[in-house]
Amino acid sequence: MAGLCEGRVAIVTGGGRGIGREYCLMLAAEGAKVVVNDLGAARDGVGADASPAQQVVDEIRAAGGEAVANGADVSDWAGAKGMIDQAISAFGRLDVLINNAGILRDRMLVNMTEAEWDAVIKVHLKGTFAPTHHAANYWRDLTKATGEPANARVINTSSVSGIYGNIGQTNYGAAKQGIAAFTIIAARELRRYGVTVNAIAPGALTRLTEDLGVVTEERKASGDPKWVAPIAVWLASAESKDVSGRMFEASGTVLGIAEGWHRGPTATPVKDPKALGPIVADLVARARKNAGMDGQDLD
Ligand code: NAP
Repeated sequence: MAGLCEGRVAIVTGGGRGIGREYCLMLAAEGAKVVVNDLGAARDGVGADASPAQQVVDEIRAAGGEAVANGADVSDWAGAKGMIDQAISAFGRLDVLINNAGILRDRMLVNMTEAEWDAVIKVHLKGTFAPTHHAANYWRDLTKATGEPANARVINTSSVSGIYGNIGQTNYGAAKQGIAAFTIIAARELRRYGVTVNAIAPGALTRLTEDLGVVTEERKASGDPKWVAPIAVWLASAESKDVSGRMFEASGTVLGIAEGWHRGPTATPVKDPKALGPIVADLVARARKNAGMDGQDLD
């Protein structure tokens, strides 16, 4: 039986470990040809080692699939372009870009260094923009040359920290909220080329999260990245062409769709700031509360 992504060509950034690795394996199992990107840095972000990406490539090939490794830093402009070019030269086309690479530098705002802020913003935000920009240009040219929609996909990675907010993660949450906004805007811009853009806020036990809280057997089971990969693989398929600009929450405990920002209650504008006290109190009282990390109203 043909796989859900039979013949499609996909890039997965940060595909050497964690959730990205699972995306690569499931995409290949569903018939996709995969470019496995991974910088191969140590947990503190230092160094570059091709082996995590190559190991995933070897695993895919051993199972009869097709894959190549790419060691670019996703936030490097030329490296991101080279990754798109590699997919086209290795497999003749590109259909899917999954922007998954990411790092954490958690710290309370008052203690956070400039370097911790810059590193997180760079890898997540520029590391989403740069590959998407180069892939979008490829799909735009393709659409103009063929007159056909590209039927292509961008799948970004946000986080509950970005859409709901988590203490100790002003850098990471700001980047992940930025990726949510990027997703909505890019979905509107790229629609004309037949490219959908969605995001996943995953939850899984990986190198990124293994030391956040106690690792119980239950957490191990529900934290298996295998729970996250199916929605990514479905979004990567041709079947998902009518879904764009959406944010899915995916883990072993939930598959949800976020409802985003909406304007809540309103009031008549006033020119005098001294008049605003009771007006704002009324707006706050009538507005839905912000969400906690579970996506429900915060107490
Ligand atoms: P992970 O196991 O640490 O995997 C992240 C991968 O990204 C690593 O393989 C890493 O490669 C790669 N990477 C980092 N910087 C890179 C760069 N500049 N260029 C290329 N590759 C780079 O973490 P994960 O949990 O699977 O995270 C995957 C994504 O999900 C991230 O965007 C993360 O923020 C997001 N997320 C995860 C959770 C969760 O519960 N795990 C929750 C919310 C969001 P090397 O380290 O080998 O260099």
